[in-house]
Amino acid sequence: MRDITIKIDPEGAGIFPHKLNPWISKTYPVNDDEIEIIVYAANGHVFSGWSGDVGQNNTSGIPLRIKDTGEKRVITAHFSPARTDKPRLTIRSDFDNGNVILRYIDQVGRIVITEPQQINDCTNIWWHFTLDGIEPGEAITIDTNHSPIAGNCQPVYSYDGFHWARFTGQKPPYTQIFTESKVEIARNIPYPYSRAISLTDELASNNNCNIFSLCKSENGLDVWAFQVTDPETNDKDKKTLWVQARSHAFESHSSWVAEGILRWICGDSEAAAKLREKCQIFVVPILDVDNVYHGGAGKSQWNSQNQPADVNHDWGNEPLWSVTKSITQKLQTLKEDHDFLGFLDLHSPWFYQGPEFYINNMDLDLGKAFFSLFSGHIRARNNPNTWDSCWFVTNSEDQLMSQDTGFFGGDDNPLPVFRYKLEEPAKFISSTGWVVKEGIIDPANSLAITVEIPHWKDDSGEIITKEGLLGFGACLGMAANDFAELSAQGNHKPK
Ligand SMILES: [Zn+2]
Repeated sequence: MRDITIKIDPEGAGIFPHKLNPWISKTYPVNDDEIEIIVYAANGHVFSGWSGDVGQNNTSGIPLRIKDTGEKRVITAHFSPARTDKPRLTIRSDFDNGNVILRYIDQVGRIVITEPQQINDCTNIWWHFTLDGIEPGEAITIDTNHSPIAGNCQPVYSYDGFHWARFTGQKPPYTQIFTESKVEIARNIPYPYSRAISLTDELASNNNCNIFSLCKSENGLDVWAFQVTDPETNDKDKKTLWVQARSHAFESHSSWVAEGILRWICGDSEAAAKLREKCQIFVVPILDVDNVYHGGAGKSQWNSQNQPADVNHDWGNEPLWSVTKSITQKLQTLKEDHDFLGFLDLHSPWFYQGPEFYINNMDLDLGKAFFSLFSGHIRARNNPNTWDSCWFVTNSEDQLMSQDTGFFGGDDNPLPVFRYKLEEPAKFISSTGWVVKEGIIDPANSLAITVEIPHWKDDSGEIITKEGLLGFGACLGMAANDFAELSAQGNHKPK
């Protein structure tokens, strides 16, 4: 029997709306899950915090999430009169990967309403800005007005650009208490273009790593690539593993995983040294550098000639983008002299779902075998985020359509931009399809996998962290080494 009393202090300064708190109903099951307690400020007040029987839960925002154990509790939501003498709030996004339009700001009520700018006609699912002028300890209410299909996943914030925490709210409007005067806020843990440049600086002195620019983007930015190989053994005899991320610019978590794999294969472990003897590994942490730099979402974008130009649909005979042009040429050249161990394309889904491997162009059992190597390493190293189960997508579009989770243009998710539903590129070819079609990957013996990295929670229900993502990358490296070893022995196929 649930027995939670919510008090408003002072009386009349806030509202506890029953409609938004379904758990107060007697018929709502007590099942040890989290419940969300939602209150609003009223009558010239602002929210100022929670007290009472809140346990160890995060009390820094609305909603308050607590475990529904059934025990008796009294919780108070505090409010204080809105003041006119607070510092002015300011919003900025004029930096690498920033994106925001300010729609409305209430300096007294401390309410900020923003909207992501749609760059190249993408769905507005990426936003990243700084908020300055906070009186430390005060709550700010923010509505981000993104498309709900990809954004309802507890945004992140950071005071130093390094440590990232999540809002307590899952979807807007968010009310969050900040403890510093300036905060950086984004939909997910950002991975700006400059992060790839800092990797080139950091790895420049690593003997196993050759750094090169694949090409200049349409806006003149370098697309940085890393070739990792043991310089003492001849590359001629080695297999090639190609790893790329961020065909879709909003999928920042995919770049963190690419960095994780790069750090691991460049590192000191015996397994990484073995992999470098057998293989040369290419890692491209950011493909769509222009959209990443300008804070674009990238998914289903249109180019300046008004053509549908999603980077992951651009693997046909005549690529539209210089990055896809240069990668397809590079892979064709590599194919002349090398067998491929695999091709991994790292993504991060645009709606909330469990992790997936898209393996519709390779052997299903081989894909599953690689996944079990990968998840075994995740368990063995106690990675901060788990990845125990996986959905293997073998016929992606049919499956997505049947999922009811918001395929573009789906009935449940009216979007601000509609035209891509009507006009997908006629010759739509994805990266993993192309490498198999071109004979670069032998689908019966090597890997052609699009990895969908979770962007909110792992399969234990824990929030995804930067360390967890870097760990996913390291474990992909370890699994690649196992796979290379087994494949050299002819034992890579499951019996
Ligand atoms: Zn993607």
